[in-house]
Amino acid sequence: MANHENHGFSTTAIHAGQTPDPVTGAVVPPIVLASTHMQDGVGNLRGGYEYARGGNPTRDALQVQVAALEGATHAFAFASGLAGEDALLRSVLVPGDTIVMGNDVYGGTHRLARRIFGRWDVTVVTVEMTDLEAVRHTVAEHQPKVLWVETPSNPFMKVSSIQDLAEIAHEAGATAVVDNTFATPYLQRPLEWGADVVVHSMTKYLGGHSDVLGGAVVTSNAEIAEQVGFHQFAAGAVMSPFEAWLTTRGIKTLAVRVDRHQENAMAIAEMLAGDPRVAEVFYPGLPSHPGHELAKKQMSGFGGMLSFRLDTGVQAKKFVESTSVFTLAESLGGVESLVNYPCEMTHASVRGTELEVPDTIVRLSVGIESVEDLVADVKKALDSAI
Ligand SMILES: *Cc1c(COP(=O)(O)O)cnc(C)c1O
Repeated sequence: MANHENHGFSTTAIHAGQTPDPVTGAVVPPIVLASTHMQDGVGNLRGGYEYARGGNPTRDALQVQVAALEGATHAFAFASGLAGEDALLRSVLVPGDTIVMGNDVYGGTHRLARRIFGRWDVTVVTVEMTDLEAVRHTVAEHQPKVLWVETPSNPFMKVSSIQDLAEIAHEAGATAVVDNTFATPYLQRPLEWGADVVVHSMTKYLGGHSDVLGGAVVTSNAEIAEQVGFHQFAAGAVMSPFEAWLTTRGIKTLAVRVDRHQENAMAIAEMLAGDPRVAEVFYPGLPSHPGHELAKKQMSGFGGMLSFRLDTGVQAKKFVESTSVFTLAESLGGVESLVNYPCEMTHASVRGTELEVPDTIVRLSVGIESVEDLVADVKKALDSAI
């Protein structure tokens, strides 16, 4: 493995794990689809490869690439973001343990913790992560094994201090996990702020083209890495070689895509903030956003996700059904712009819980199309909705 520590982000993104094929010189390493590898005598493996659940060259290449970008020693690629989270939680929790998580984490994470791990006697406590005093109090009271942080969060783009939260976790002997899906390692590297583990839905910005489902668990903690590696192998929710290859391909252009995503998002956020028909805009790039200063310190940009509030649920629903460049769909982070109605779509699973999202909120995943088309599309939908 080449040492990428002295290289810039994009050099690492393009070259880590991507050594040209030694046999043919192919600049892009070939996809290895084989489920099993020939042994030169019993147990005499080539490159350590035996059976694809345990290791696959294409998945390994992606894992090297993702670990390098997060500044970690280990990355594990899973069939989805939630499959990775599941393997991580099984690795660090035993029955009777407690997780403390933000009151606005990804709904699927909350559902996994509550409804799957709840059956194994794991308790989930939610707290307002931007309120450090509240977190300190909750952690002291519940003595969790895991502090689960998502920043920026969804859909209000709240920003919380990874450095402070990791300290609070460590004082209580808890593992600090950061879901870095929204920021990506291009904008935020949680391990450098003291987090123990980073998780990703690679389905989003890392894949970047809405054509792959995947997750990653990333860490420099050898003990956690050993456990997660064992769970990846023994429980088997691995990423397929083709999806790993697509994700690696996506990651090579991550920096240029995110640059454009956030340029476009800023233009739309400013336009919305200046429109009197819009009640409130949630984008950390706006100086009016409560997380703006912290985002400037902790991140190197503000990303491509934003939300806004209209006066009524009827207006919000009409808006999401009135765009034409923005496609009405769940998910985020692809090159194409998406519009989402959180309360009935992405956040439907947390209805009736403390994570419920009001029916007046609209979320945009701003793509990399021509900005004038995106701005015009949002204006047109506002005209139709109000
Ligand atoms: C989508 C998402 C997940 C879950 O990932 P899947 O790939 O859909 O399983 C987790 N966290 C965040 C922040 C997400 O946006």
